[in-house]
Amino acid sequence: MIEAGLAPGDDSAVLEEVASEFRIRMTPAMQAAARPGTAADPIAAQFVPDARELDTRPEELLDPIGDDIHSPVPGLTHRYPDRVILHITKTCEVYCRFCFRREVVGEDGTLPEDDLTAALDYIARTPAIHEVILTGGDPLVLSPRRIAAVMARLTKIPHLDVVRIHTRIPVVAPDRIDAAMVAALRTERLAVWLVLHTNHANELTPDACAALARLADAGIPLLSQSVLLRGVNADADTLADLFRALIRNRVKPYYLHHCDLARGTSHFRTSIAEGQAIMAALRGRISGTCLPQYVLDLPGGHGKVPLGPGYLDETAPGRWLIRDWQGTPHEYRDPGA
Ligand code: SF4
Repeated sequence: MIEAGLAPGDDSAVLEEVASEFRIRMTPAMQAAARPGTAADPIAAQFVPDARELDTRPEELLDPIGDDIHSPVPGLTHRYPDRVILHITKTCEVYCRFCFRREVVGEDGTLPEDDLTAALDYIARTPAIHEVILTGGDPLVLSPRRIAAVMARLTKIPHLDVVRIHTRIPVVAPDRIDAAMVAALRTERLAVWLVLHTNHANELTPDACAALARLADAGIPLLSQSVLLRGVNADADTLADLFRALIRNRVKPYYLHHCDLARGTSHFRTSIAEGQAIMAALRGRISGTCLPQYVLDLPGGHGKVPLGPGYLDETAPGRWLIRDWQGTPHEYRDPGA
């Protein structure tokens, strides 16, 4: 990072201390997209280690969203009845400084074959499961051959309908989205959705947009998830730019995550009230197609909850006070009440 000019040379001792706690990696694509020497650069802020990561708060957790509590077999999280997360690798092409799985990512790579088989057996004997979410780490660090092999095994499980892939690869390493990777993601039977993790419009470089076009042109539906991050995107202008850029690239903004309680991430975290104010400022200003849902993953593994903001109060049975996008309240009598 210092050699690339992304961190000042006199920070080396701090960087070493942070590196002893959390993994560090930034791809050439993201190094090129960052603006070295710019203190508030939104790309550098996501990947360049910072002394503030050494500040651990009492409320911060090693497993912020409770993956382990809901793990029936290694490599699998079964939190909701109809879907599971399959952690097929713990490796990523970048290590985000705010990652909610920062305690486990980067550990020795791919899910061992025995564990993968046990996870697939669990899915096969649980007919309530309709959707498998491939994540990690980042599943698209794996070779197209390995991804195709996993997809083929999933396709054979008759009660599965959907595979969802959560990845940062199209923005951080767009060259990996080549014809072989696109072919590996397509199956004859299962619907495959790709959810792109991206937090700032500067990540959507021409190469990243080309990678997204390759996926969209192949008929793979694209969603996005972003994390609300102080110093990166925590204002309505920045998020409006990001969400419009995503829609231009045929990616539907899906989730805006409130920053999870991972260790050493308090400098990124806004309050919920700040997040709600940003979402309220975006409504009406950008198209509804651009608006994601603002959510919190409840600590302890209790799942995602929409954080609003709310627009209505029931003032009497069947009578509501509803605020429009500019904040003006209107009375509404619910004829169906
Ligand atoms: S790519 Fe995803 S899993 Fe990997 S470090 Fe970033 S947020 Fe964490």
